[in-house]
Amino acid sequence: MARYTGPACKLCRREGVKLYLKGERCMTGKCAIERRNTAPGQHGAGNKKMREYGRQLREKQKAKRYYGILEKQFLNYFKEADRKEGITGENLLTLIERRLDNVVYRMGMAESHKEARQLVLHEHFELNGKKVNIPSIIVKAGDVLAVRENFRDSAKCKELAEALKDKTAPKWLEVNKDALSAKVVALPAREDIDFEIEEQLIVELYSK
Ligand code: SF4
Repeated sequence: MARYTGPACKLCRREGVKLYLKGERCMTGKCAIERRNTAPGQHGAGNKKMREYGRQLREKQKAKRYYGILEKQFLNYFKEADRKEGITGENLLTLIERRLDNVVYRMGMAESHKEARQLVLHEHFELNGKKVNIPSIIVKAGDVLAVRENFRDSAKCKELAEALKDKTAPKWLEVNKDALSAKVVALPAREDIDFEIEEQLIVELYSK
């Protein structure tokens, strides 16, 4: 499946916000948004007035890029969110939040969504005791995600486990930092998602 392989920071500059695509670097003064928050390209620093469609499009791109989801799959999430009862925009975000790769990121066992996706693809996690390698699995309340035994002794896992000690997971996840596991104790609610996004704009875009 085709994925964006260009410079990650360029995506943040395009959206004008931190998308936290490069892990630790995103928290430092080296972050491109901290140093120069202008859109990439020759006219990036211009003061462009964004029209309604432009704002809606940018908000969708921002969400897709933050979570690392491609267009077709994102549209499928929207359709599913629209079929559910409740507010479509909130349904959309809380559904995506339940992706397995996002759970790995939120529990603190990856520095970025990209790394979380890689860890899942390389079968370093098990879900409810079974090996998994599909980042798009949607977790349910009661599910337990854990690092697999054969990954635990690796230098990478030790590094991630060390970093995990200083991290705080959202309240819908109960993380056991010694066991390197996380239990989904509740489904995430909109207020649990601290990424700044106006999901209503995405709904408006897809509802045209
Ligand atoms: Fe680059 Fe991370 Fe800053 Fe985005 S948040 S510009 S990925 S360092």
